Amino acid sequence: MPAAIETAHEPRLKGDKFKVVIVGAGLGGLAAAMAMHYAGYEVIVYEKIKKFLRLGDSLGVGENALRLLERWGAADKLRKIGNKSPVMHVRRWDTGEIIATQRLMDMAGYIGHRGDYHNAFFERVEELGVPIHMGTAVRSFDENSPSVTLESGEVVECDIVIGADGIKSMCREVVLGFEDKPLSSGYACYRAYTDGSTIRDDPTSGILVNRDQMNIWIGADVHIVQNTCRDGQDFNWIITHKDDADIPESWSQPGDVNDAVSLVSHWDPTIVNAMKLTPSCLDWKIVYREPLPTWVSKSGKVVLLGDSAHPHLPTSAQGASQAVEDGATLAICLELAGKDNVRLASLVYERLRYSRVLKTQKTGEDTRRRWHGALRDMGAGKKIDPEQVKMQNEWIYDLDAEADTRARFHEVAAQIQAELEANNDVPVLPMSLLGPDKFDVPQISDQRRREVAEIARQMYEDWEASGPKVYKGRERPDLQSDASAVPPIKGHVASSHNVVVSA
Ligand SMILES: Cc1cc2nc3c(=O)[nH]c(=O)nc-3n(C[C@H](O)[C@H](O)[C@H](O)COP(=O)(O)OP(=O)(O)OC[C@H]3O[C@@H](n4cnc5c(N)ncnc54)[C@H](O)[C@@H]3O)c2cc1C
Repeated sequence: MPAAIETAHEPRLKGDKFKVVIVGAGLGGLAAAMAMHYAGYEVIVYEKIKKFLRLGDSLGVGENALRLLERWGAADKLRKIGNKSPVMHVRRWDTGEIIATQRLMDMAGYIGHRGDYHNAFFERVEELGVPIHMGTAVRSFDENSPSVTLESGEVVECDIVIGADGIKSMCREVVLGFEDKPLSSGYACYRAYTDGSTIRDDPTSGILVNRDQMNIWIGADVHIVQNTCRDGQDFNWIITHKDDADIPESWSQPGDVNDAVSLVSHWDPTIVNAMKLTPSCLDWKIVYREPLPTWVSKSGKVVLLGDSAHPHLPTSAQGASQAVEDGATLAICLELAGKDNVRLASLVYERLRYSRVLKTQKTGEDTRRRWHGALRDMGAGKKIDPEQVKMQNEWIYDLDAEADTRARFHEVAAQIQAELEANNDVPVLPMSLLGPDKFDVPQISDQRRREVAEIARQMYEDWEASGPKVYKGRERPDLQSDASAVPPIKGHVASSHNVVVSA
């Protein structure tokens, strides 16, 4: 066992006999394992996959998650993985001109390969000495005498079961008492992650890998996210488009690069040529789930965490980070409620997290709607407000989930206890307590917007000054261009496999 890294604090409740079983060793389950370890509990993780491969592509880890991972000794590894560009650009679909520039930390955080982040989380949990049983699927859950039954038939008893078993969660059925079927969201993504050398020598697209960068091309009902990591060694694109095909959600369904290119064949050749050179891609149908009525089983001893409770759209860039916050909050709730009050701890966890997560989920829909609509139906000469195409995620990053839980736990616990007494021990569902603004994405003030825009402008200038701006004689349009004054996009209609552009 490698020695523990001394960057993080010591476990808080030494010697407390409290056993946590975590089902699923994704980013959510592993973050929960770190949080529970630092709370001082005995933790055991079961994962059905025998050996993880470097699966998926780019994923964001926000400051809100990084702050927690720092305390758990994992952040240094993660910072090395992420995209080093300080800013990202939103560009016009046709010319590639910049419409808006935004700090990367305000929109998605550290963007890197999911597999690399996953590996770093995994290594840290191993360093902490938490056992991860790979190739060990959980077959069933008992929520009354909390335990899980493994494929082998072995029953593992514990004080609480955390279902961090992802979008196709089996634990969710135990919690809800019914199967929560996904609905088509009407959108899909083609996703590719490839070696930067694939495009490095291309005169049109090579500029995308001359250093870390992130660009987003927006058009009517389609957008392309492009991400360059590890100083140009890794190159990634994701194209989101309308698609109603009824194919189950899967992270490994192969796609056809030609189909992806056909959606944007008239777009900026800087990105389209790069797509054409990419050897393969995946086709991911984005499904939608209504917010769950609850994340906590009747006994309170089986709880959902991460994607099993609240999957996020890629445009929210918060799926992993919210899973990390979940683990932090649940660990503190268990600590403050005490080991004899697991149900109360679980209900407070749900109440503290529910409304925030609903809003982080909604940011994904909000961003997609604004990106897909910004250039559609524009009158000639009309200007796009650059603020309208920025991701409005800045409100998410300040929260310290551990401190917030400590600050609010007792008030919320007292409220829940009073509700249980008044309702014959039946918990009030969190959604019913939320106001009419429950789906509204929080806004930052105009002054703060201006300040952040100025910081981004300065960062971009410094970044440009510090590195190669020209690649093979070609220069990207810079911030001075007025790409917000748009000619209308006449006849620009994108459907799942058909883009028509007429002058
Ligand atoms: C293969 C894959 C690729 C992904 N790629 C991207 C990406 O490119 N970009 C992005 O933004 N997000 C991606 N995601 C989603 C992202 O990782 C999650 O949104 C986020 O990390 C939170 O994940 P989670 O831990 O809650 O769930 P997951 O990451 O889905 O992890 C759940 C884990 O539970 C395990 N499990 C399920 N059932 C059982 C069982 N019965 N017994 C034991 N173990 C079980 C699964 O094998 C899995 O390892 C991907 C997820 C997966 C699984």
